[in-house]
This record gives sequence, C-alpha cells and structure tokens, in this order.
Amino acid sequence: MILELAGVAAGYGSKTVVSDLSFGVEPGQIVALLGHNGAGKTTTLKTVMGLIAPRAGEVRFDGQALGRMPVAERVARGIRLLPEGRGIFPDLTVAENIDVVAARTGAQGAMLKPADVYALFPVLDERRATRSGSMSGGQQQMLAFGLAILGTPRCLMLDEPSIGLQPNLVERLFGQVRDVCRAHGMAALLVEQNVAAAMGLADRVVIMNNGRIVFEGLPEEARASNVWHYF
Ligand code: ATP
Repeated sequence: MILELAGVAAGYGSKTVVSDLSFGVEPGQIVALLGHNGAGKTTTLKTVMGLIAPRAGEVRFDGQALGRMPVAERVARGIRLLPEGRGIFPDLTVAENIDVVAARTGAQGAMLKPADVYALFPVLDERRATRSGSMSGGQQQMLAFGLAILGTPRCLMLDEPSIGLQPNLVERLFGQVRDVCRAHGMAALLVEQNVAAAMGLADRVVIMNNGRIVFEGLPEEARASNVWHYF
C-alpha cells in the first residue's frame, strides 16, 4: 500500500466528523471515495494531506506513520491534493502557474516536468500567455490537474474534479488521470458526486455514510450491492 488509513477519526472543534476509517490505496491504483454531501469525504482528504490532525488512528504513507508531519513535507513525499474549486492562481498566466509550482515541487529529477504537462494538455501549451482565470472551466481544471502532478507525485487526491465540466471533458480528464496513474505508478484517491463516471474510472470503491465506511470493494461489487440507498 502506498497510502493506508487505519482506524482514522477526525473532525472540527468538538465535533468528530469521520471515524473508524480503514482503507488503502496501492501504487497505480485509483480508488473512488463516494457518498452523499456531508458524508466526510473532503474531511478524509484533508486529514491525509495534514490540513487537520487525526484524533484517533493513523495515516501511513509508504509504510510510515505520518503523525503530525507538516503539509509541505507530505507534498515533498508525493502526496498531492487537487482541492474542490480548482487550485490555480487565476491572476497568473498558464506558464506562470506552471513555473511557480514546478519551482516549488523540485524541478531537479522530477518525474513530471512542465514539458510533460504541456504534452498532456496541448491546449495549455497554446495558452501559455493567457491569464488562467479567464480560461474555460475545463481548461482551468486541466491546469489544476497539471499543477497537482508536477514534480514526483505518488498519491494524488482529487476533490470533485468533474464539477462544472461538460460530460465529454469529464471523460477526457478521467482518461488522463488513468493514463498518468498507469504510466507512473501514481495512486489516486478520487472524491466524486458523479458516481457513474467515478465508478467507470476506479479500480476500487469506498462508500461513506455519516462519517463511516459502509462499503469497500470492486466497482462491480458496488453496483451489485444494496449500498445505493445511502445516496
Ligand atoms: P461535500 O460533498 O458536501 O463536500 P463531504 O463528504 O466532502 O461533502 P465534508 O466536507 O467532509 O463532507 O463535511 C463533513 C461534515 O463536516 C459536514 O457536516 C460539514 O458540515 C462538517 N464540516 C466540514 N468542514 C468543516 C469545518 N471547517 N468546520 C466545521 N465543520 C465542518
């Protein structure tokens, strides 16, 4: 397992929002984390990223317990979060966004460099000098994904990347997620409201309800199960 949660609980203030979370992601594997609004999916991603501390259990990365390791160190080890609402700098051009993030994620010896992102998304190459916030939602999401994989990502967490995208763009973006995972052995943990698209992409599915896991298995097992009453 590259990423493993063992009995993790987390929350805000006096409120525990997720508990007893145990699941893992293998290198190169895509795991979809599904559940209705407020089920605790984003809280789970934030806990792995180190934005909030677990109040029970352990997050392990590459076999090592992360404890209270700071976010920057998690990023350096290859844990990445593509936050809901797009993690780009809207006032910078496409090239400036890419250069700023490439400089921070260690261009030396990086697995994925700016040239790889431009090759993956030729439209970003054409729009290097465009202010990124003025691009279409789809192009902004491609840039956000491109920024998230710069450097040497080993586990990418995507929080509802399909929001606001046309179905054909969702299909293209998910195809690119799959290609990068397969080509580089990168793991992905995908939070999605678009259940059909996520199930089509994922190798495994974890379903949450009220802060707990109610199903973990293959997409076909999820389809055949009775977990859908949670949605
Ligand atoms: P959504 O799809 O709506 O983002 P989710 O499954 O990602 O849902 P979370 O965002 O993890 O759910 O939220 C789980 C619960 O935690 C909700 O009840 C929410 O109100 C609460 N919550 C989320 N963020 C905070 C916060 N910063 N402070 C306090 N409570 C929060």
